[in-house]
Amino acid sequence: MPVDSDKPRSRIVQLPLEVVTKIAAGEVIERPASVVKELLENSVDAGARRIDIDVEQGGAELIRVVDDGGGIAAADLPLAFANHATSKLQSADDLFRVRTLGFRGEALASIGGIAQVTLQSRQPGDLAGAEVSCKGGQLAPVRDWNGTPGTRIEVRHLFYNTPVRRKFLKSPGTEIGHICEIVTRLALAQPGLHLVLTHNGKSVYEVAHGTSLADRIGLFFGPEIKEKLYALDVQQGPARLFGFVADPACERGNAKLQYLFLNGRWIRDRSLGHALQEAYRGLLMTGRYAVAFLFIELPPDQVDVNVHPTKAEVRFRDGGAVYSMVLGAIRQRLNAANLTARLRPPAPLGAVPVSALNAMPWLAPQRAEETPSLFSKPGLPSYTKNPLPPPDPEATRREPGGAWSAESEARSAEVGTRSAEREQARDATTNGHADALKAIQMHNAYLVLETPEGMLVIDQHALHERILFEQLKERLRAGTLEKQKLLIPEPVELTAEQAAKTLEHRAELSELGLEVDDFGGGTLLLTAYPALLSRTPPGEILKAVVDHLSSKERLPTREQLLSDLLSLMACHAAVRSGDTLTPEEIAELVSQRHLAHDAHHCPHGRPTALLFTRHDLDRQFRRI
Ligand code: ADP
Ligand code: MG
Repeated sequence: MPVDSDKPRSRIVQLPLEVVTKIAAGEVIERPASVVKELLENSVDAGARRIDIDVEQGGAELIRVVDDGGGIAAADLPLAFANHATSKLQSADDLFRVRTLGFRGEALASIGGIAQVTLQSRQPGDLAGAEVSCKGGQLAPVRDWNGTPGTRIEVRHLFYNTPVRRKFLKSPGTEIGHICEIVTRLALAQPGLHLVLTHNGKSVYEVAHGTSLADRIGLFFGPEIKEKLYALDVQQGPARLFGFVADPACERGNAKLQYLFLNGRWIRDRSLGHALQEAYRGLLMTGRYAVAFLFIELPPDQVDVNVHPTKAEVRFRDGGAVYSMVLGAIRQRLNAANLTARLRPPAPLGAVPVSALNAMPWLAPQRAEETPSLFSKPGLPSYTKNPLPPPDPEATRREPGGAWSAESEARSAEVGTRSAEREQARDATTNGHADALKAIQMHNAYLVLETPEGMLVIDQHALHERILFEQLKERLRAGTLEKQKLLIPEPVELTAEQAAKTLEHRAELSELGLEVDDFGGGTLLLTAYPALLSRTPPGEILKAVVDHLSSKERLPTREQLLSDLLSLMACHAAVRSGDTLTPEEIAELVSQRHLAHDAHHCPHGRPTALLFTRHDLDRQFRRI
């Protein structure tokens, strides 16, 4: 038989240990944050009460972790870097009795294979300690070391011997962002721990020993979330679920603020994520995510943690029971928080009594004189920082319709349009006013107007969103998207990871009119925003944009990103369903209908208007 010379004639060889180590390391150590995670877990397993983490250049140059835990005996030091060497397991049965965070005995071996590591340790009772170094898997002889009890480990030049992986490291800002996320998870999971993180010599986080879970949440995610938490704690058979769920008002554009811990370990679990969302059903719009910090405690034999090398996924022995516990407990807690009014669908139209019709809002004269233009003129500052207290969230929740109107009125008053601006706005819309004035608002959500063809019902949010989107797009294309400089830059607090991600997209954001500066410690300073969106607090727009950016795993193309962000900004800045509009605003909205190239759909694909033709109406009433 002729040999096909095109085909590679491969042979099987046993890989050298060095290569095996590098392959295995790839599973555990993906980036500097993975090193931090493994080292922190070791410190926790060693009973540390305080851990200091110093990072340089996003961890690519240095990661140093110092703990005050139980240390390693001098004689065991070289073994620490050996593969599958651990003090945490003895037999296979132990795999189902895991009470420590680590147990696979491969982290130090992996890290030692791809970096230059020095490990120094001293056990509390010992007079002296010892140190050992490991560079690219090569161990140096053990030496004496005279440090305080505990363990000190330095990881330098990560991936120095795997140039391809080193090249794939992201900017220090992005890498420290991932590290911050790891530290955050640990700080939440281990409330007894004192944690200090510095980056390039600057303090990033310091969480003191006695800081409660709620205070930790406040520290990492800001007071807005901390103040809207509902605590829960339930026991079901051998299982306990405790922690906090946040008020639906804290909703996010992604699931990043859904923290789930099992026996002190941060985990990812699709099914439980689903249970959480399910518990909020009816309280959140589709595509919006709840914020929650949930802790599950289960006997170790009820769960298999050995599913994945990074131990972030687990298998429950009775997944169904855990699912119902999470769903049931959260739903009950939300009900107890008196959020039920929002769970009930609005009464069907036919059920509205005649007496109620007399009280319909459009019949009451509105304070048109004080109302700003929905489409404020670019360049004219119409947004000023809210001097009024925020609307009472409880009140907004219970009265559908009344809810947002309270806010929009507060906003109208706060904006205080100057008469010149109003004049201009009026001029711009006079043309459309003839038919527009006939429009009335219904249910604070729809505008109904008579047209030559029949009757048009407009979704106020969808139309406004569409108009803003088209205006923004047009100006972006023409390069005339005016920016409004903020007199006093507005600080926006984010997680360090979000801040880093946002700064990466600074150029695109600037094109869109959003100018941000790094203030450090996860805080960004918003210095300018698109003048067209002056109706919405600029910080709110930036937050929505950040949410969107951090929900993206991979980078979208520039065009895609701009278009995504435009529609997001339009959606946020548009009047909402539930906003009471003044006759002036209604007129403006309806008259600018022509600005929407395709007025039938908002950028999300929902229709903006429905037409009931005269013919349809006549037929329905059997006139023809
Ligand atoms: P694992 O944590 O899965 O056991 P590692 O490779 O992470 O495996 O660590 C190997 C061993 O080194 C641990 O089992 C532990 O005995 C010891 N060790 C590592 N870090 C520390 C530390 N900070 N304090 C005390 N012992 C440690
Ligand atoms: Mg470990």
